[in-house]
Amino acid sequence: MVESYEEMLQKAYAGIDEPTDTGERFQVPKTRVYLEGKTTVLENFGDIVDTLNREPDHLMKYMLGELGTAGKTDGVRAVFNGKFELSQFEAIVKGYVADYVICTECGRPDTKLVKDERVLMLLCEACGSKRPIRKRKGKIDTSSASAVEEGKEMEVSIDSISKKGDGVAHVGKYILYVSGVKVGQKVKVRITRISGQVAFTQKIL
Ligand SMILES: [Zn+2]
Repeated sequence: MVESYEEMLQKAYAGIDEPTDTGERFQVPKTRVYLEGKTTVLENFGDIVDTLNREPDHLMKYMLGELGTAGKTDGVRAVFNGKFELSQFEAIVKGYVADYVICTECGRPDTKLVKDERVLMLLCEACGSKRPIRKRKGKIDTSSASAVEEGKEMEVSIDSISKKGDGVAHVGKYILYVSGVKVGQKVKVRITRISGQVAFTQKIL
């Protein structure tokens, strides 16, 4: 059976501590943050970037872009101007892992970023597949992850279309399916059922 991108992504999120082929465990360190004056400090930025095996500048730029703020790395810490929540950092790290680390073919993290005729590609060292980095449409929604509950109504933006033709939206750690929509569309939905990190919805007209 061929798994869909969403299914693999879900596994990558849920099974981040599953052993990989090399017998190692890929476990992204839990983000640790605290407020310091008017800034938010990500205490273990260095650990995270080491685990993901990416350039610190690359992850930092991504985080700054998603948070829409300025900041700098400071040794193993990263300091962001403004007050942010732990859940925001968790969502952003997950987004980064999905966009720049996990192979969509085999779901493993043994990948590296390579340039192919100036296009940034994710090359998987486990299965040899190569894919262009997907450009995320809009920012990761880091604000309303806690709002994903059965019966709740929320506005979501459609990131992609699944193989079955349903729209796919990401809210925090959740993957939401919405039928009858197009990529880039913003729609109001009601959450009808949640199963693991997948939420089924009904579009509200
Ligand atoms: Zn692979």
